[in-house]
Amino acid sequence: MRILVTGGAGYIGSAVTQELIADGHEVVVFDNLSQGHRAAVHEAADFVEGDLADREHVDAVMAEHDPSAIMHFASHTLVGESMEQPLLYLNENVRYGLNLIRSAVDHGVDRFILSSTANLFGEPTQIPIDESERIDPGSPYGESKHILERTLHWLDDRDKLRYAALRYFNAAGAASPDRGEDHDPETHLIPIVLEVALGQRDKIVIYGDEYDTPDGTCVRDFVHVLDLAQAHILALGALDQGSRVYNLGNGEGYSVREVIDTARQVTGKEIPAEEGAPRPGDPAMLIASSDRIRDELGWNPQHDALEDIIASAWEWHRRHPQGYADAR
Ligand code: UDP
Repeated sequence: MRILVTGGAGYIGSAVTQELIADGHEVVVFDNLSQGHRAAVHEAADFVEGDLADREHVDAVMAEHDPSAIMHFASHTLVGESMEQPLLYLNENVRYGLNLIRSAVDHGVDRFILSSTANLFGEPTQIPIDESERIDPGSPYGESKHILERTLHWLDDRDKLRYAALRYFNAAGAASPDRGEDHDPETHLIPIVLEVALGQRDKIVIYGDEYDTPDGTCVRDFVHVLDLAQAHILALGALDQGSRVYNLGNGEGYSVREVIDTARQVTGKEIPAEEGAPRPGDPAMLIASSDRIRDELGWNPQHDALEDIIASAWEWHRRHPQGYADAR
């Protein structure tokens, strides 16, 4: 298939692009490079620099490339930032996502995969979290994804398209030693911990140690970006049998302290840590049940051990201490 990947220069989008190409698909990446990196885009993909705010450009790309499916990653993605700037998320994530969805429908593109989030579950009533959990977004970021999920639901109901909403828990690891995570500013736990290991930061600040969790720090379910990519490929193959939503994680929770300890083992570095204030919008514990996608599509994560996830990220960070600024 020919697949339009928005945000294909970003962390998860570039990993999925890599795996789609390995699977024999053609990929057109559409990215404004506000957070993504041109060097992250697989050489075999077509690249279009553009902004989803520009409806005419989106329409022109849709007409020229005539994709069979769309995978939509381009988005603001930070829970903490969305708590500071709610309208950035509720305005841009929603509006630009709707521009894309509207253009897809106008051009008869009827397969759509949405990059969604565990932040749909702000205060989960049960752990692990399956797809029957009530939706109560933990932040404007989660709400923006919820609005797009509901939009796709209604378009499916009205027979305009088939969609999959894939709710990632904590994406981590590198797609290859030369394709990894590089945000500016970096806010994510594992890359920051590894920047401390590299000596680029003095310490990791633990955001809160009085949560209702075994060691008081937040617990997260880390899933390797290559396993996420496989879930996209499986979901794409199943769309013609109907729309679907899936929670994607390994079903195993690790606390912030456990992540730091594992990174110490993997890197052999000291990694100084210090307790700080909680970050608004962070739920105490997010662990996925991914039984649904395992049962329905046979999803079987290959990189589920936290040591392996951190080791693959470490390989990328060690080889590219300045990220894509010195990649390739
Ligand atoms: N975290 C932390 N210190 C940091 C960055 C993150 O303690 O410098 C914590 C954060 O509070 C959360 C977990 O690590 O509980 C994962 O955060 P991240 O931003 O990586 O992903 P999120 O869970 O927000 O998607």
